[in-house]
Amino acid sequence: MDKKWNTRTKLVHGGTRRSQYNEVSEAIFLTQGFVYDNAEAAEARFLQAGEDEFIYARYGNPTVAMFENRIAALEGAEDAFATASGMAAVSGALMSMLKAGDHVVSARALFGSCLYVLEEILTRYGVEVTFVDGTDLAAWKSAIRSDTSLVFFETIANPTLEVIDVAAVSKLAHAVGAKVVVDNVFATPVFSNAMEQGVDVVVYSATKHIDGQGRALGGVILGTTDYIRKTVEPYMKHTGGSMSPFTAWVMLKGLETIDLRVRAQAEGAEAIAQALQGHAKLTRVVYPGHPSHAQHELVTRQMGKGGTVIALEVKGGQAAAFRFLNALDIVLISNNLGDAKSIATHPATTTHQRLSEDHKQELGITPGLIRLSVGIEDKDDLIADVLGALDAV
Ligand SMILES: *Cc1c(COP(=O)(O)O)cnc(C)c1O
Repeated sequence: MDKKWNTRTKLVHGGTRRSQYNEVSEAIFLTQGFVYDNAEAAEARFLQAGEDEFIYARYGNPTVAMFENRIAALEGAEDAFATASGMAAVSGALMSMLKAGDHVVSARALFGSCLYVLEEILTRYGVEVTFVDGTDLAAWKSAIRSDTSLVFFETIANPTLEVIDVAAVSKLAHAVGAKVVVDNVFATPVFSNAMEQGVDVVVYSATKHIDGQGRALGGVILGTTDYIRKTVEPYMKHTGGSMSPFTAWVMLKGLETIDLRVRAQAEGAEAIAQALQGHAKLTRVVYPGHPSHAQHELVTRQMGKGGTVIALEVKGGQAAAFRFLNALDIVLISNNLGDAKSIATHPATTTHQRLSEDHKQELGITPGLIRLSVGIEDKDDLIADVLGALDAV
């Protein structure tokens, strides 16, 4: 691929592999396997598959490879491995790198399933995990030891939108030779500069902004070719969390428009966050792209824009939060994010229900907290919808 292309061109044309029919839209190679001309060719391919040679869809497939090449071009990574879901990507990235006796330092504020993998699964296999407040550099510094092998965090925490200093934490990790793995969903592939800022491995749930239209589950692990092909691929292809060719096609179509969608969503989020400042029914409006965010300077330096999600805290606890949700007209009550459709979530009773009250409090998941994922609808309609629902509180 022409590396000189700018982002939007890469997103439309990057990674394309045309069949003998020269189709315009990317082909869906909905096949689990491939036929060999003769037995010797099969033997040769199993020994060493070439760039355009495939064996079995769990190992790789032309449609999946198109998606991997396109998202790698967007992220500025050497290579990528596509997975069946975001969690297959998170668990695959971690499990493929770690072994019993290893020490991991992780931010405490994590997506529920990420927390489960680190707290319940890795520890069962003899990995020691230390959790820290991800925004506190001194805490990272004292938790990272000379034998720490991996550092993990979500670059922006869900749902309270605290931002972690990617470059600073990466530097602390690299000083002891630890690898840095980030779940970068909230930063989005559009605003991410994680690789340039020192991260070794970036993971996305493609279910979020990459599909962005609520259709399919998927994920991707990005890193060096050496890491993807020698560490991730053997783990994923033998444990079975690979992406299906049909999903890869959906995600390729998502990538064509991701830059347009996510920038429009961020613009909508900025406008809504601004319209809600100082609202009498709210105790907090948190948006990384608004100057009132505690780490606004870091956000500007790290990703330029504030992303597509806002957190609001309604006065009056859960009852008031539910009245707000039930009064929304355009914004849907659901639990996805990054979608073209605006979505509101009550984390305390849904996505973070499993956590203890103490843990919720520690993470700022209060009964009045609402996570608002801003879609691509008209921003004046969205502002009117949100303000109208606040009137009902
Ligand atoms: C949604 C999400 C995941 C999991 O992705 P799935 O595609 O649902 O498996 C992981 N991390 C973060 C931050 C997410 O938002």
